[in-house]
Amino acid sequence: MHLQEISHPKVGIVGGGPGGSFAALHFLKLAQEKGIFPHILIFEPRDFDKPGPESCNHCAGILSSRLMRGLGKLGLELPPRIIQSELHSYALHLDHEVIQIAQPDPSRRIASVYRGAGPRLLQGKPLAGLDGYLLTQACLRGAHHIPHRVEHITWQGKPIIQTTKEEHDVDFLILATGVNSHAPLSPRFGYQPPKTTLMAQDEILRPASWPAERVNIYFNQPPGLKFGVIIPKDDYLNISLLGKDTNRVSIQEFIQAQDLRDELAYSQSSSLCSCNPRIAVGPAHGYYGDRWVAVGDAAVSRLYKDGIGSAFYTAKKAIQVALNSGISKRAFKKQYEPYCQHIHRDNRFGRWLFSFWEFMLQKPLLLKAWTQALQAEKEQSAKTQAHIRIVWGMFTGDEPYRDLLYLGLHPQALRNLFFPPQ
Ligand SMILES: Cc1cc2nc3c(=O)[nH]c(=O)nc-3n(C[C@H](O)[C@H](O)[C@H](O)COP(=O)(O)OP(=O)(O)OC[C@H]3O[C@@H](n4cnc5c(N)ncnc54)[C@H](O)[C@@H]3O)c2cc1C
Repeated sequence: MHLQEISHPKVGIVGGGPGGSFAALHFLKLAQEKGIFPHILIFEPRDFDKPGPESCNHCAGILSSRLMRGLGKLGLELPPRIIQSELHSYALHLDHEVIQIAQPDPSRRIASVYRGAGPRLLQGKPLAGLDGYLLTQACLRGAHHIPHRVEHITWQGKPIIQTTKEEHDVDFLILATGVNSHAPLSPRFGYQPPKTTLMAQDEILRPASWPAERVNIYFNQPPGLKFGVIIPKDDYLNISLLGKDTNRVSIQEFIQAQDLRDELAYSQSSSLCSCNPRIAVGPAHGYYGDRWVAVGDAAVSRLYKDGIGSAFYTAKKAIQVALNSGISKRAFKKQYEPYCQHIHRDNRFGRWLFSFWEFMLQKPLLLKAWTQALQAEKEQSAKTQAHIRIVWGMFTGDEPYRDLLYLGLHPQALRNLFFPPQ
């Protein structure tokens, strides 16, 4: 089953978040190199130019350096109006200490963006968001945006995409509906969405004294918190909380427990936009078949961090398989599944890292040794820094979890931990 055999293959992409737009952009790039002229439809009901949760794909919006590199390879340079803040350091708030970590490698740029056009109670004009930018780029390069929700996807020898207004049969279907809405596939496709957990998010105005280029991460308090992150986005701050297991932590509880009320000038009326989105914590099952494949969160994404980067790379791999090896279930099984499995396996290493992290937070002696190692590494060259790189990689999504775990077991890391350099 090869798209090359069809003169103008019709491709339906359901979902115009990053996964969907990246799929279109990769498709258009590779198809051009192969002399294929596809007709690409992206179904996306959200108007990303409107502020507020209805037009936003709820996310903290940190872009990893691996995503930034990928965008460059697609010929996309994010315009300054999209970038809200360049992020150069992280501050880890442990019970009695704040540890600051500067970007270990300045060439590995990370930044924050809005996904929609800014918070619901925006002060001023709508902002430019990532998802709207990517969708526009895909359309400028030849895709067509259909601004309707897909109600059903059925099968009649080919996938049939139905909105309330129209019906399209397509030669190839790409499912990019993420994990925050129901995937409208008929049971015939055998798709089972990923496991998810709920997060809490809020947006507030950034007090003038709050650093504009530093991400702050909080642990331990309130009980049940896995981590809380405060991310600067120009004039605003995004607060994102992840609870342990199924624990839900509210923003108010968090502000109170971390004693942030005065520093953030936080009151009942500070909240400009809040939501409780789902984040994927496992892979989907049955995420490809003849003439269809899922990408982004709808397939698999990196645990907790860099989901947008995963959307970029799963979309790229799926399109490479489709255009190089065909759109049969066999082709995806042979070449796409191993790629997704690789992400899933790496997430296991991530889970171990986060479990070890939580264990360490409960053990004062170990925590002390580790904070001393971190402080000592700050004086060292980037080459001999191990713990700084691990923390940066864990919380930015910048390096595979497996590499970070192995780095933690490296003699240099163990030396830095047990015999910190003076
Ligand atoms: C609180 C939180 C913080 C996060 N922070 C980060 C971060 O800092 N950095 C990072 O890289 N990742 C982060 N993520 C993960 C990131 O948001 C996702 O991995 C990423 O959005 C996945 O992109 P996607 O395109 O697969 O799905 P989505 O972004 O969810 O996009 C899916 C799209 O499909 C559309 N859609 C759904 N159903 C239909 C339908 N029936 N018909 C038509 N369209 C449909 C939706 O409107 C949406 O636009 C965070 C997630 C959460 C929950």
